[in-house]
Amino acid sequence: MGKRGRGKTKGFAEGARRLRRRAELLTAILVLLSVPTLWFLIQQTGSEPIISAVASPETRVISPPSAPEAAAQVRDVDRCDDPLVLVDREHGLPADYTPDDLVSLRDLGVPILGRDAQLRREAAGNLERLVASAAAVGEELTVTSAYRSYEDQRASYARLVSIYGRGANKTSAPPGHSQHQLGTAVDFTNAAVGYEVRRNFGRTSASVWLRDHAHEHGFVLAYPRGGGRDTGFHWEPWHYRYVGAENARRVRESPLDLQGYLVQEGVLPSC
Ligand SMILES: [Zn+2]
Repeated sequence: MGKRGRGKTKGFAEGARRLRRRAELLTAILVLLSVPTLWFLIQQTGSEPIISAVASPETRVISPPSAPEAAAQVRDVDRCDDPLVLVDREHGLPADYTPDDLVSLRDLGVPILGRDAQLRREAAGNLERLVASAAAVGEELTVTSAYRSYEDQRASYARLVSIYGRGANKTSAPPGHSQHQLGTAVDFTNAAVGYEVRRNFGRTSASVWLRDHAHEHGFVLAYPRGGGRDTGFHWEPWHYRYVGAENARRVRESPLDLQGYLVQEGVLPSC
């Protein structure tokens, strides 16, 4: 190769080096330019959860409530006619609450003390069958008290307070806090206890029959022996409440008494 040829070769080599350097520079510029773009894209992706988190409370307000929330709302509104409404020392019925389907027990042929007594229609029909079933095996059950209005309870409670003072609270509920205002509670008595409301009723064969069979007709003993701490009421072997056969069976099979069952499964007296 001659001198000119070598010079030409050198010129080509330098040109190629210069081109490579430009290409490297261009690549570096492109890389540098792409970094902010990539950073921006990463930021956009990363910000999605933040946007969702901000949006989620709005979504919760707009979307329908979940099933448990809906159930809780239903259980707390206008349900004083529910067979499982909770009425106790803390939870009372309004003064103007009166069931609208009360029927005469006398008309159904249920033995009663006094002129008449009333229960709600479904409870009355089941009481009629309960009393007849007991009579069929020789057990007498006579109703001494059934539905009591708020005003009846107020008068009755005031009379007991005038006799027993604060002690009346143990045997009678203040107005609004008696299950009798529901029209589903009934007090039994019979000849064995002189047609009085006494604990001795708990020792009668009729009481034993009730213990074994009341649930078949939808009734449960509301204040069992030893349950006073939860209800504020001591043992009342004469006082039964109608809750329907299915609930009565469940209470019987549960370790809970009626109060515990109502706290767990019942509805609040909001009406
Ligand atoms: Zn009672």
